Amino acid sequence: MKKEALLEYKQKRNFRRTIEPKPKIKISKGKLKYSIQEHHAKNLHFDLRLEHEGVLKSWAIPKIPDAVNDGKTKRLAIETEDHPYSYWNFKGFIPEGNYGAGTVKIWDKGTYIPEKFSDKEIIIDISGRKLKGKYVLIKTNFGGKNSWLFFKGKD
Ligand code: MN
Repeated sequence: MKKEALLEYKQKRNFRRTIEPKPKIKISKGKLKYSIQEHHAKNLHFDLRLEHEGVLKSWAIPKIPDAVNDGKTKRLAIETEDHPYSYWNFKGFIPEGNYGAGTVKIWDKGTYIPEKFSDKEIIIDISGRKLKGKYVLIKTNFGGKNSWLFFKGKD
């Protein structure tokens, strides 16, 4: 694990003013955590979190994720800074004036099993309340360097 793994997360926030979790790396035991938060910030979006090597890999999805098992709906997912492990279950109100100000709710949560986890392609088996089964994240070249597509794969 890189020493400065959560540096970007830390730099964007003032922990005397936000109620968000502190930038702490944690190697957990048991199944890998998965969640999607409904974030009512300036623009409503859905934040996908996947526990990976002590942090949460994170993507902001502007449109509601596809929980239907057809694999046709591909969602743009913009990779964002790694978040601390305990953020997977975070909900609450981030006060005005802070980065990401607004209400955060848990939209879905559970665990996942990685089938492939590279910096270009991620294939996972999700056990959530809403999302279940195989999901795919693929890095794309359009829409900026942090753009991925997130969609239901074939089980
Ligand atoms: Mn967000």
